Amino acid sequence: MHDYNVETDPPAIEPVEHSIRLDFMAGGPIRYDQLLLNSTSRERDAVDSDPWHRAGRAKPLGVQYAEGTCQHRIVEEAPYYEVYDDEDALSDAPAFLAHRLRQCRSADAPEAAVRSERDRRETWYRTLIPKLNLCSVLKRSSYGSLIDDGPAKTADGQTLLEHNGFVGAVVLGSDSDPESFAQERSLPPQYVVHERDLSCGQSEAGALPSEYGFDLPAPLLVGEYASGSRYPLVPWSDGLVCTCPFKADAPWRVLCKHELLAAIVLGARESLFLPVTDGLDVPYRARRFVSPAMASVHTPGLPSDEWP
Ligand SMILES: [Zn+2]
Ligand SMILES: [Zn+2]
Repeated sequence: MHDYNVETDPPAIEPVEHSIRLDFMAGGPIRYDQLLLNSTSRERDAVDSDPWHRAGRAKPLGVQYAEGTCQHRIVEEAPYYEVYDDEDALSDAPAFLAHRLRQCRSADAPEAAVRSERDRRETWYRTLIPKLNLCSVLKRSSYGSLIDDGPAKTADGQTLLEHNGFVGAVVLGSDSDPESFAQERSLPPQYVVHERDLSCGQSEAGALPSEYGFDLPAPLLVGEYASGSRYPLVPWSDGLVCTCPFKADAPWRVLCKHELLAAIVLGARESLFLPVTDGLDVPYRARRFVSPAMASVHTPGLPSDEWP
């Protein structure tokens, strides 16, 4: 079972997570032939060199923007490590970083604790996000399972919605019965679902909406994907989080294939709000994929050749 630990897991969607969604929105459609092959034996190499370069494939623009974002975060956050004992200075630091730096103050050797925290965080930006997280999502076996594999297909926002949908549904917790709930409120029963009957309730690893501390019943968007799974999107800080196991079991991952799909769909629509392609209306908070505040300050940009 997934355990969400408020002490160690990020309390909010991190700025980098919003930025990377905006990067993929701006980067446009990603074609099947741009995706990486499914080789797993070469994961180790992926850390040392650029897998798109090695594969002779065009690196999707969204990936390049995301690398630019990771570089930018390193530069942006550098000053906080110098002022870790100044509470005022930390007030505009990302919540999780501020939390960790406060913990460093009470460590036996605060300076060393800050150094190792910085090392950990920069490794996240240099390696874990771009090399491990994004490279595994941008594979044929991952994002490729949601899009057309025809060589000429461009997988634009509209084509993506022919194979995938965002369905408005009332999601119930374990204490309610879908049938009687739908009957009492005259709702179409196919749009009233028990959280355990969605894909997040069927694998050991998925996180149920209720496990995020989310109050049910609630109207939510349920992503119904070409790969056959159905995962609700849960409102979390001022965006949405997919409840699939990919992210639920590894808080350092900032993007799953479903969220990548959502970003590409929204990029084509130039909107921060996911469309309801079927089912019931849901409140705007259940459709808001990216923080409008983040969207207003983030400008996607290409990375420099030299990492900071
Ligand atoms: Zn769980
Ligand atoms: Zn997902």
